Amino acid sequence: MAQSMTPTKTCVLGDACIICGFSFVQHEKTTDGTDIIHKFYQNKLKLNSEKVNCIRKVTEKSDLDIEGSNAGVCRKCFRSVESIIKADEKNKAAKQRIIQSLDQILTETGGNEENSEALCQSNPACIITGAAKIVKLESVKVCKRGSGCPLQKKDYSDFFNFSWDHLHEYFRHHCPALLSIISATVCDLTPQVSSKSYQHIILTACIGLHGRSQEMSLVQFVVDFMLKHGGCTERI
Ligand SMILES: [Zn+2]
Repeated sequence: MAQSMTPTKTCVLGDACIICGFSFVQHEKTTDGTDIIHKFYQNKLKLNSEKVNCIRKVTEKSDLDIEGSNAGVCRKCFRSVESIIKADEKNKAAKQRIIQSLDQILTETGGNEENSEALCQSNPACIITGAAKIVKLESVKVCKRGSGCPLQKKDYSDFFNFSWDHLHEYFRHHCPALLSIISATVCDLTPQVSSKSYQHIILTACIGLHGRSQEMSLVQFVVDFMLKHGGCTERI
């Protein structure tokens, strides 16, 4: 009487994918004791030196040694290895393009500085015309009614919270070209906060902008207020 057996599956050691361990040959023993061999060689790729090198590259295991073994790699695992290598190459090329572009911009910017230096020598009028245009655009913008410029605000709190720093900060953000031109007129280096030059620069900007728009008169009001407080009867 045939003995009933539990079905078992065994794998052939060594004939498996070196990455995921999938066996390319599997033995199955059925309940009636029959041996069935399943072969999955259509999934197996032989490990030639080219494939081994690819796996070494991705796994960073340069000492990977499969010589003499029957091992292979399954198609799925090797597809992953190939796509990682492709992505790495793509990233490398993209990185190279970014570096090249950055280098080019740095060179061009350097070149522009040289160009403006050369232009200052050969055609200063052109530089002046350009700078004046920029300063004019900035001034028009800050003098516009409702621009948010502190010089247009003349309430009680604006008077008593008046500060040169506050104005300087506003000019630095909204009319940097104007500030830079006036600074160049007053002194050589960036003046220290609250120094005499610092106040001259801001006051000059305030006077200039008041010339463009009567609304930009906070500083004139403050000065007028202080003079009157001191007994001055002349209108400034
Ligand atoms: Zn595999």
